[in-house]
Amino acid sequence: MIIVPEKAIPNLIDRTTSFKAVEAVFAAMSNGDAYNFPVIREDIGYVDALYGFKSGFDKAGLTLGLKSGGYWPGNAEKGLTNHQSSIFLFDADTGQVKALVGGNYLTAIRTAASSAISIKHLAREDSKVLGMIGAGHQSAFQLRAAVEQRNFERIVGWNLHPERLSRLEEVSAEIGLPFEAVSLEELGKASDVIISITSSFAPILKATQVKAGTHLACMGTDTKGKQEVEAELVTNATVFTDEIAQAISIGECQHAFTNGSLKAEDISEIGPVISGKHSGRTTTNEITLFDGTGVGLQDLAVATVAVELALESGVAIEVEN
Ligand code: NAD
Repeated sequence: MIIVPEKAIPNLIDRTTSFKAVEAVFAAMSNGDAYNFPVIREDIGYVDALYGFKSGFDKAGLTLGLKSGGYWPGNAEKGLTNHQSSIFLFDADTGQVKALVGGNYLTAIRTAASSAISIKHLAREDSKVLGMIGAGHQSAFQLRAAVEQRNFERIVGWNLHPERLSRLEEVSAEIGLPFEAVSLEELGKASDVIISITSSFAPILKATQVKAGTHLACMGTDTKGKQEVEAELVTNATVFTDEIAQAISIGECQHAFTNGSLKAEDISEIGPVISGKHSGRTTTNEITLFDGTGVGLQDLAVATVAVELALESGVAIEVEN
């Protein structure tokens, strides 16, 4: 089997490669060539950790595997990222383990790719202001990937813990765009595209705070009970997701689905939009909302590329099975 250690991965795979791998797997899901297995996500009752498995099978690419890991909120104090994960790839013909790949950096770039894909396909072409809600570890990756999709002129940001906004300010400066910390009201008024990437369990953004024509990528809600925006905002939007089954159970759509104001049939997967079978946004006035729940196939897609690149560049560690 091949081992690709976490520390080798940032030098192997870039944003463009990750974006292409995730876009391809979303399209494969819409063709029925690839499917995700039900997610296991458990509060383990220890150090507030959420732990679980995401897995799937891409029949076309013969990619079979799982990501194991979760969210440890106390890790930042220990100098570690709160998300910790590892990806296992298996031989689809024999079930033998093929690779063990560090999953932390891959999770960050595949999640950033997901919201960037939604911006590419759903945001208005003339989007100029990007609003960021959340300033944790993932937010920097989200911001870097998002600005590659439209000619943004400035970034506005809000975070529950304002002292963390310096992260967004620094990344904006690196990108060469002005950054301003704002209230949620100001953020909604100014933004053409909004990304939310927090670990909130209560709505942050209200329906009345978002203007017509906005595209929202809700990326933080990946567990039952989490919520970043008012259910009414989801109900009123044209809703897209990576996978409907996850959106209504663990994604941002779960609340509008549970209160009966949103049905599964009201939600479209992004795959058909990518492959041109769904028109996506149809007016400049509608609010589009992408519920990025994070699917196992995204992890397997980027891990497969990481293994190929690790073998090519000689950093893969080979051990006997
Ligand atoms: P982090 O711990 O580094 O940052 C958490 C962010 O949420 C910070 O901005 C923090 O200030 C904010 N926050 C914390 N509690 C809050 C609350 N009660 N209300 C509002 N904001 C609050 O985490 P991260 O690595 O940046 O991840 C952020 C979120 O994204 C997590 O919930 C994580 O599970 C989720 N996530 C989703 C996917 C996906 O595929 N959808 C992938 C990775 C991470």
